[in-house]
Amino acid sequence: MPGTVTEIQPGLWRIRLPFNFELNHINVHLLRLEKGYLLVDCGIGTEACFAALESALAALGVEWTEIKVVVLTHCHPDHVGLAPRVLELSRARALMHAVEIRHLHSVADWADHPEAMDGKLIEWGVPEDRIHEITKAFVNVRRSFQRLEKVEALGGGEVLYTGIGPLETVWTPGHSPGHLCLYASRDQLLLSGDHVLPSITPNIAWMPEADSLADYLRALDQVSTLKVKTVLPSHGDPFTDLAGRTRETVAHHESRCGQILRVVAEEGHTPHEIAGHLWRNTLSPFQQRFALFEVMAHMVYLERRGQVVHELLGGVGHWSCVQHGTFPSAGAYQMRRMVP
Ligand SMILES: [Zn+2]
Ligand SMILES: [Zn+2]
Repeated sequence: MPGTVTEIQPGLWRIRLPFNFELNHINVHLLRLEKGYLLVDCGIGTEACFAALESALAALGVEWTEIKVVVLTHCHPDHVGLAPRVLELSRARALMHAVEIRHLHSVADWADHPEAMDGKLIEWGVPEDRIHEITKAFVNVRRSFQRLEKVEALGGGEVLYTGIGPLETVWTPGHSPGHLCLYASRDQLLLSGDHVLPSITPNIAWMPEADSLADYLRALDQVSTLKVKTVLPSHGDPFTDLAGRTRETVAHHESRCGQILRVVAEEGHTPHEIAGHLWRNTLSPFQQRFALFEVMAHMVYLERRGQVVHELLGGVGHWSCVQHGTFPSAGAYQMRRMVP
């Protein structure tokens, strides 16, 4: 499949690339610079994706060497997989948030030691045979996180000068700890990466020592204060109502917190049991890992706000609610008030 090119406006193009996953595509964006081009994200590291990107650039009459800067919104394989190849062909500068570079390199190191997460999965109550299946399902995904050499570190707040005016980097942790959005103030465009998506909510995963969900909600608040006419997401089509979509995304997490509190109060007590209850035990090992990390991001959030506690019994975390009595129905949980 050739990459599908859409001109968003003069000097800015969306290139839709194939992604053989539940989401069947990834959008990368090309911006004209005074000399050359800036590419936002690269696509997944498959031959089909490479061929699609190459044909899209050819259709636009852009040579690889005309790409001078590559900004990577975050390190997930659908955004970074082709980056080593693109950087080798173009010799472009690569830019990524400093936190994300560290995250990418630590995930790439784990790829050689997939069993390193087993201790956490035991603590979350996953049975041993299932841990083996989950690890097996993830080995290939982990391998697609490759270290990137010569990538320059950003901190958020930098301004890149492009053919559509200044483009500001906005640090939006949550979906990934060093996720960046790009804001074009002149035309009020937000390249949102995976931070805000039109039809799905991005996975918010447990991270060691972090409160990923609180980080994410703060970063949602932050982008919702920007003047934005059009959001250009990495998956799905452009959309206009950023404030509305942000509210829906917060509501999704409120609903999930409400669901979790009810489950914890009534039945499931380990994260594995809670995930099994929320998803009715219908998940593949691959999906189950996402579900566990998502549940744990919510558990940490609720624990830090005094809603739940956990104790380790035989190395397995058992969770309980702090307040007994009535619990909010799904959707009635007031998350925003709890954001510090
Ligand atoms: Zn992502
Ligand atoms: Zn993505």
